[in-house]
Amino acid sequence: SALRVGLTGGIGSGKSEVSRRLAAAGAVLIDSDALAREVVEPGGEGLARIVEEFGEGVLTGEGTLNREKLGSIVFSDPEKLARLNAITHPLIGARSAELQEAAPEDAVIVFDVPLLAENGLESLYALVVVVDAPVETQLERLTSLRGMSEEEARKRIAAQATREQRLAIADRVIDNSGTLEELAGQVDRLWADLLELRS
Ligand code: ATP
Repeated sequence: SALRVGLTGGIGSGKSEVSRRLAAAGAVLIDSDALAREVVEPGGEGLARIVEEFGEGVLTGEGTLNREKLGSIVFSDPEKLARLNAITHPLIGARSAELQEAAPEDAVIVFDVPLLAENGLESLYALVVVVDAPVETQLERLTSLRGMSEEEARKRIAAQATREQRLAIADRVIDNSGTLEELAGQVDRLWADLLELRS
């Protein structure tokens, strides 16, 4: 049967880079951020229900979801956040189930889940892979490659689980403190091991 792998890592750790390479090697990728965007696309049930709940003010002029606006509404109000999650989570779950059912019987399914550690989701996967990098490296990538201010980058890192919390749930660690070439070598070895585990 399919092998379910949870992939996580802090912001700017290189998680997307790893999931891209695993998908290129043949993994079926289920990207929770992508699903979260998909279920609020214009014309869908998710966006209609969000507008019902929070008002037209959460739409941009083009009728797409204004994430900043919605974020500012739910950010400091756990009850509103719970109402938003009650709309989106079942839709994300249903879409994820569809993608899993469509995957080949012997697939390696990689779930890219940024908040896997934060949400205690490790038991959902046969194997948890953590992409690890020092905070200074995360900061460097976020500021120089993504144009984030250092203050913003530090704030976002501080809002997530610590490296130690993530490493505590890891079955396997990808050390992304080096070059992209070193990363590629580790992903190749991981992929070979995943194919072994699957059979
Ligand atoms: P987020 O949680 O924000 O999605 P992420 O963990 O998915 O972050 P990536 O987008 O994979 O992070 O990487 C952040 C940036 O750093 C990207 O521009 C990526 O190409 C670059 N990067 C990742 N690993 C390395 C590396 N080893 N050397 C140089 N650049 C890297």
